[in-house]
Formats: sequence, structure tokens, C-alpha cells
Amino acid sequence: MLRCAVKPSLVLKLIGKTNLPSAAYSSTAIPQPITSPDVHYTGVFINNEFHKAESGRQFPTVNPSTGEVIAMIEEGDKADVEKAVKAARSAFRLNSEWRQMDGSKRGRLLNRLADLIERDQVYLSSLETLDNGKPYSSSFMVDVRQTINNLRYFAGWADKIHGHTIDTDGPHFAYTRHEPVGVCGQIIPWNFPLLMLAWKFGPALATGNTVVMKLAEQTPLTGLYVGKLVAEAGFPPGVVNIIPGYGPTAGAAIASHMDVDKVAFTGSTEIGHLIQQAAGSSNLKRVTLELGGKSPNIVFKDADLDHAIETSHFGLFFNQGQCCCAGSRIFVEESVYDEFVERSVERAKIRTVGDPFDMKTEQGPQVDEEQMNKILALIESGKKEGAKMCTGGGRVGDEGYYIQPTVFADVKDHMRIAEEEIFGPVQQILKFRDISEVIERANNTKYGLAAAVFTKDLDKAHLFSQGLRAGTVWINCYDVLNAQTPFGGYKLSGQGRENSLYALRNYYEVKSVITKIPVKNS
Ligand code: NAD
Ligand code: MG
Repeated sequence: MLRCAVKPSLVLKLIGKTNLPSAAYSSTAIPQPITSPDVHYTGVFINNEFHKAESGRQFPTVNPSTGEVIAMIEEGDKADVEKAVKAARSAFRLNSEWRQMDGSKRGRLLNRLADLIERDQVYLSSLETLDNGKPYSSSFMVDVRQTINNLRYFAGWADKIHGHTIDTDGPHFAYTRHEPVGVCGQIIPWNFPLLMLAWKFGPALATGNTVVMKLAEQTPLTGLYVGKLVAEAGFPPGVVNIIPGYGPTAGAAIASHMDVDKVAFTGSTEIGHLIQQAAGSSNLKRVTLELGGKSPNIVFKDADLDHAIETSHFGLFFNQGQCCCAGSRIFVEESVYDEFVERSVERAKIRTVGDPFDMKTEQGPQVDEEQMNKILALIESGKKEGAKMCTGGGRVGDEGYYIQPTVFADVKDHMRIAEEEIFGPVQQILKFRDISEVIERANNTKYGLAAAVFTKDLDKAHLFSQGLRAGTVWINCYDVLNAQTPFGGYKLSGQGRENSLYALRNYYEVKSVITKIPVKNS
């Protein structure tokens, strides 16, 4: 169904070159999906149990391949956030089981959670695909594998978090303690539901905090299943609480709560502003934000063009283009511009769009109708503003939220498609003449999440990586994200870093303890 015209031999050749992390599996070794996974958990998860929403309301979660309702979910709201924060506060009380637990035991619990996710990886990958629409091969190879890796990485940190001893002036010595911040509110988006959960749980739990997480309303299913695994792993009740529900209700209740010590948010820059305002006008809770982007990807004429074309294709179209760090402004040096455009269009034309449970599918549907319509409107604006639409531009079929892989050439910096986050399978290709011009244009954005450069010239690569105001710079690669490397934004792309040692820093307070050393008068 819904498949675009394809030359199979060419597809295999090109797919073989994509940069999906391979982990221990080759694409032929991925276990078959469960195409109709059962939904077991639909409630609000508090104190290791599932509850009905206090309001008695439910909301639907939809299969984006068909538009059909998969299940009705309890709609968490302010009253449920209240209950969850109380549970999290109680689990965090001095001398609670969680507060007294050794770091190594916290690490074992995180590892146990990773083991349980691995045990159920086929089910979880299938459920992610059903709820989000992403190809099952990606759910399995990227989302679930990285979720497991991430939790294990932070499990390893849990017993290695400690302060310093400090020599001070006078007859004193000082030491610091790295103590958990407390109750952490965490609000995640729908583009990588499981992985965003892991990015937030890992550092928060390794450092001994308790958590109230709000799942994205479009994709609550895998997060709720993880709730069951949290209980099975043996986390004390109240350490992890998970609320399905909407942003302006449940999400806002977390951001403005007087007894939440920190809020971590991933999503749009627009809502990022609201989160920070809510923190500012409530209890000045600590805020970390991972927001939008319009990441530049620069291709110099001396690059390995085959590699640059395929990797730029991947860097934009991966996850249906629904990546905060998508390489959505591709600047190509003048002398190779026409060839780059022509071959990028050929590649986009053979991108396999269709049933996300089919192993050969590269692109599934967009997450919902609202996102699909937003993307289609931005495509229209590109045409109206004079960019050249070389392929795609419309919906695929009339069932589900599929969009044709779309490529725009002759894009100018001031066009909406070059300035706004599209979050869809729409590639913009711009032309440049020299390095200082392209660095300036690449930086001329309110965002600063990621950037990439393709060149064989080390000098250019270094000039570029120093000149770009972005949290991540990829050289001759794209979307290489892992637990060990920090990820986050400059400017309006956010504050704080996820993953790595740097993520831990967002989840502990530093306490100085200063001791008088007795001076003996002899
Ligand atoms: P969003 O920012 O509205 O949603 C992200 C999360 O925030 C969801 O859990 C949502 O329920 C919650 N939220 C919404 N309003 C809130 C509020 N007032 N207070 C607290 N929480 C709130 O994003 P969206 O509407 O799903 O998508 C809109 C655009 O955002 C997309 O088109 C894309 O450009 C961008 N986006 C970026 C990311 C990212 O990874 N940076 C992820 C999703 C969407
Ligand atoms: Mg859904």
C-alpha cells in the first residue's frame, strides 16, 4: 500500500548506506513485529499502580497509519498531578527507602529496568510503531536499542556521583555533596516517546531524584507500559509517576506546581517559553529545555558527494522529518549545487513510504492530522514564496497522515521554509559561494541545536565547527546521538544538556559543608 515508484536494487543499495545505528543486529536479523500489539495499560501511574483519572475523563490515542482510535486513555489533569507530586514527595522524604538506598542499588534498578525493556523489546517496538507511525525497523533498531543503552549508561553513573574536598583559607576544610534536586517534573514529546523517557529518567533516577513524567498525548502507550516495568523492576512506590494527558492541563500543572523542584521539557520553543514563565511565576523551579531547531548542513565541493547526499537525505527524512535536530537547511557549494539537487531528488523519489510494519518501509505517516496539515501549509508557503519544488509536495493517499518526500531547491534564507521548523519530510537546499558567507548565513537563525559539515578539508571542518553557534556539530556524519555525548541547544533551542556527564549536572544540587579544624595552642 501507499508505495511510491521504486527501483528495488537501487533502494537496497541506498538503504544499505543509511546511518541507522546497527547495534548487534543487521536489518535481516530484526525479529518480526507484532502487527496488532495488545494495549495493557491506559491509566495514570502513581505509587506503582494504575489509576483512573480523577476527572473521570478519557482521551483517544490514534494510529497515524489509519486515523483509527487504538485505545481510550485516562486523561490526567491537575488533580492527578497533585496526587503524583504527593507520591513523589513522599518517596523523596528524608530516610525514605529511596533516599537511603545506595547508589549501586539505584544503578541495579536502572539496569533491571533496561533488562525488562530488552525482554519486551519486540512488543515495545511494535507498540511504538502502532502509536507513533515510525517504521518498526527504526523503533527496534534506534528507539528501543538506544533506550536500553541510555538507561544502562546512567545506571553506571549511579554509584559514581560525589563531591569534592576543598582546601579553604583559615583553619577550615570544606567538602561538597552532590544531592538530588528533589521532585522532578518531566514533560516529553511524541517524536521519540520511549527514548525521550529514557533520556529523562536515566539522569534523574541515577542521581536519586523522584519523577513525575507527563507523556505526549499523541503517544502515551509505550510510556505507560514502562510504568508497569518500573514496578516490576522493584523501584519503591512513588519514585516514578507517569501521567498521560494534555499539555495546557497536566503539563501546565507540573510547570507551575509549587512543590516540584525542577522541570525538564522537550518540545516546541513556543511551549518552552511557557514552561520557563510558569517556573518563574511559581517557585523558581530549575528548568532545562530541549527545543526546536533549523539546523544547517553544509556541503563543500570537496566532500565525498555520494556520502553527503545520502547522509543529508537521512539527516532530514529520518523519523518522517520529525527530529528537533533535522538538517533542514542544506547549504551546498555553488559548483556542485545542481548535481547535489538532482541526485537528492532522485533519492527522495525512491524513498519507500508506506506501512510502518513492513521491514522495507523507510517512511511512515506523520504523527497526527494536525502535524500533517502544518507541514502541507508550509509546503504551500514554499511554493508561493518562489522556491522550486522538485518532487513531492502532497499527501500520499487519503488514509492516514502520509506525506510525499518533498525537495525544494532555489530556497532563499528569508523564506518561511528556510526559517521555520517544518518537522516533516521536506528538504530545503540552498546555494553558497564561500566559507565565511556560509558560516554567517548558517548562524543567522534564532535556533542553535545542531549543524553539520561535509568536507575532506580539516581546516574548513575546524573553522566551521568553531564558528557555528550550535550544541552539536557533526563532521561528515549526521544524527549520531548516543548516551555518552551531550546534546542540547544554544539560543532558542534550549538550555542544559541531555545525555552524558553533563546531563547529570541538571539533576543535583551542590551543597558546601565547611568544617572548623581545631587549632592546638602549644
Ligand atoms: P509541544 O511543544 O506542544 O508538545 C510537547 C510536550 O509539551 C507535549 O507533552 C505536550 O503535551 C506538552 N505541552 C503542550 N503545551 C504545554 C503547556 N502549556 N504546558 C506544559 N506542557 C505543555 O509540541 P507539539 O504541539 O506536539 O508540536 C508542535 C511543534 O513543536 C512541532 O511541529 C515541532 O516543530 C515542535 N516539536 C519539537 C520537538 C523536539 O523534539 N524539540 C518535539 C515535538 C514537537
Ligand atoms: Mg497515537
